[in-house]
Amino acid sequence: MPYRFTFDLSEVPRFFFAELARVSYQKGMHKSLLETLQRIIRKFRIQEATGLNFSDAIVLIQDLVDLQAVNLIERKKFLQTKKRALLLPHCARKYMDNRCKAVFEPNIPSYSCMHCSPDCLVNKADCLAKKKGYDVYVLPGGSCVPKILKTARYEGVVGVACGEEIRLSETILSGNAVAAQAVPLIKNGCANTIFNMETLMNTL
Ligand code: SF4
Ligand code: SF4
Repeated sequence: MPYRFTFDLSEVPRFFFAELARVSYQKGMHKSLLETLQRIIRKFRIQEATGLNFSDAIVLIQDLVDLQAVNLIERKKFLQTKKRALLLPHCARKYMDNRCKAVFEPNIPSYSCMHCSPDCLVNKADCLAKKKGYDVYVLPGGSCVPKILKTARYEGVVGVACGEEIRLSETILSGNAVAAQAVPLIKNGCANTIFNMETLMNTL
């Protein structure tokens, strides 16, 4: 399910994400984060950088903080897992039409990247994760997650998606006792989306 707004944080300085991580750490200690979120939005000029209105910016930043907090809580458990999968969103493929040579496997359902474009984010992530021993799935949507968990018993899952999709998948993963780590999209819109490769590398 997409957000009802689009965002692009790819031009926002890296320090913004460090600040989010810091705030996420504090989340466990402080219940009300609204004032902090408002400060971050003002400090990093999120409204100006993204064109979002204030309430949409709050929703976005709140989701990013929430998923960072879950990452921190789950990190220790995740590091102890052996059998792992990486779930990538199909919207981050370089092409969404037949120029993408990925093979769709309807039984899973998932795409398998055929590595047609060296500069495709999905291609880069797929190669990186496979080298580290992960199974990789390129998903048309979060609703495929339960089926994947039925086909293979994963202990740890890294999921890349927009905040809303991550929130839905986290509920499914925790219900199946899978240790999850999330990497948020920094540009959504359901096509030509972007995630940060360095963040993914560190998470894997
Ligand atoms: S590199 Fe993979 S995911 Fe990217 S466009 Fe080619 S086949 Fe599709
Ligand atoms: S931005 Fe990508 S991950 Fe989010 S809902 Fe759209 S297709 Fe799914």
